[in-house]
Amino acid sequence: MSRQHPDILCNEPGPTVRVAADAFPTSALVFDQEGQPLKDCSAERAASLVQRERAVLVSRDPLAIRLTDVAGRGATPTPPGILIDGRTRNARKKRRKKDKRIDQLKRRDGLDCFYCGRELLDDCTIEHLLSQTDGGNDKLANLALTHVKCNGIAADLSVVEKVKLRDRLRTTTNVG
Ligand SMILES: [Zn+2]
Repeated sequence: MSRQHPDILCNEPGPTVRVAADAFPTSALVFDQEGQPLKDCSAERAASLVQRERAVLVSRDPLAIRLTDVAGRGATPTPPGILIDGRTRNARKKRRKKDKRIDQLKRRDGLDCFYCGRELLDDCTIEHLLSQTDGGNDKLANLALTHVKCNGIAADLSVVEKVKLRDRLRTTTNVG
């Protein structure tokens, strides 16, 4: 073998485990704190994360690690790791995209809930009129602003049922 892999030392409970270099895989499965799968990383990177206590080894065959709770380590700055940084970067990007969409919808529709017609305050979210599970897309024409609560009521309804719900809620609002 021309390429030498480093041995891995892991901090799982019990005695330190050393995995033989010749049995070492080239990539590792990565899971987040809740056990959700993330992008694979190299075995070297997995070893480094485990050694720095950024992750714990959950399986040796296949090689798999789980990231430890970085947010809980108050004194420790976010490590420069691609996995963790990639996650926060994506979350921020998603948040920015959502805020932009909300602004566009407010400009188009005003500040009232699509369903009940009452004013939207902080409890404002984006409703997919044709739900994503039914093939609805993220284009503005398929989106409307609603209260989180109203969005919850409409969650599993078809488009027709949503329009009926809208009529019902608005009638209730006017009467009440
Ligand atoms: Zn509402």
